[in-house]
Amino acid sequence: MIPQTEAIRQADTADSSDVSWQHALANVIRDPEELFNLLELDKSKLPDALRGCDDFPLQVPRAFVDRMVKGDWSDPLLQQILPLGQELDLHPGFSNDPLLELSDNPIPGLIHKYHGRVLLIVSGGCAINCRYCFRRHFPYQENNPSQREWQQALDYIRQDNSIKEVILSGGDPLAANDNMLRDLTTRIADIPHVEILRVHSRMPVVIPQRITSPSMNWLTNTRLTPVMVIHSNHPNEIDHHVIEALQTLKREGVTLLNQTVLLAGINDNPEALLALSKRLFAAGVLPYYLHMLDKVSGAAHFEVTERRAKELITILRNQLPGYLIPKLVREQSGELSKMPINN
Ligand SMILES: *Cc1c(COP(=O)(O)O)cnc(C)c1O
Ligand code: SF4
Repeated sequence: MIPQTEAIRQADTADSSDVSWQHALANVIRDPEELFNLLELDKSKLPDALRGCDDFPLQVPRAFVDRMVKGDWSDPLLQQILPLGQELDLHPGFSNDPLLELSDNPIPGLIHKYHGRVLLIVSGGCAINCRYCFRRHFPYQENNPSQREWQQALDYIRQDNSIKEVILSGGDPLAANDNMLRDLTTRIADIPHVEILRVHSRMPVVIPQRITSPSMNWLTNTRLTPVMVIHSNHPNEIDHHVIEALQTLKREGVTLLNQTVLLAGINDNPEALLALSKRLFAAGVLPYYLHMLDKVSGAAHFEVTERRAKELITILRNQLPGYLIPKLVREQSGELSKMPINN
């Protein structure tokens, strides 16, 4: 679990140019009662939400709440962030470390599971706490990414010239400040065999003001080919602020892809997935992965069966051009890639 002070501490060490997103990050909503008031929700369910916070606190940026429909419990954005008492129930097959990432982490902050690419845990923090996320149990505090000395990870990458791509991940790497990201990416670009710099971030969706041309020049102004994989689960997440942020990246030459987690009650219907693909494309983003849920404790109520997932992909395939169909995958520990689920 990330201490509340982490996001604020990172905010304090920021460039002055990014005051507005730093402010949004420091002012996320953490009090369920405030959320209930803003959305005019029935307070009788407040104790249940507070119980859900015991395991993983509420955290949601105000800009994301602005896109929710007031008084609607079934709002697909609310469902992604609302803590529930039932998250504390135990379910067979659901665990705290479903991907066994803790044992796959010999160098602090670096995960090398797949050929040709490594993943760096750049920031343990996120702007938002998504209830279905495996991060809810990952002990990032012990990994202490914001304080990390990167030399060991960079030496590892330098010594293995099969590594062509470095992925900045987290948490959310864009919760880190730009000076740190500039320093790190400059050192990555200095390794001759690395060609591609990829960022995995939900920030363009949840705090779109994070993305400005100057604040992203460590990504767009490097010899490395820039790729960003954003994370959006529902078309309602993509408002005009998000589209503006994405168009800024697109103009600067960043290849934009999206990953979605298939979530019961949120996007396990054809309408949501069809509209999401179309909306992403209009914003300059291609669908990349549709992930089956990681079986993390607290998220069992989001599970969608493989059979239903395949049905949904078939419907998408019958209605959309091939380039708007995400690949349906499941992450499985020990495998050499995400595992495709074919029908
Ligand atoms: C998902 C993931 C990647 C990226 O995989 P792609 O299929 O290239 O998107 C890389 N490393 C780790 C550890 C991952 O979990
Ligand atoms: S933004 Fe990504 S890493 Fe952060 S809580 Fe959500 S799903 Fe997890």
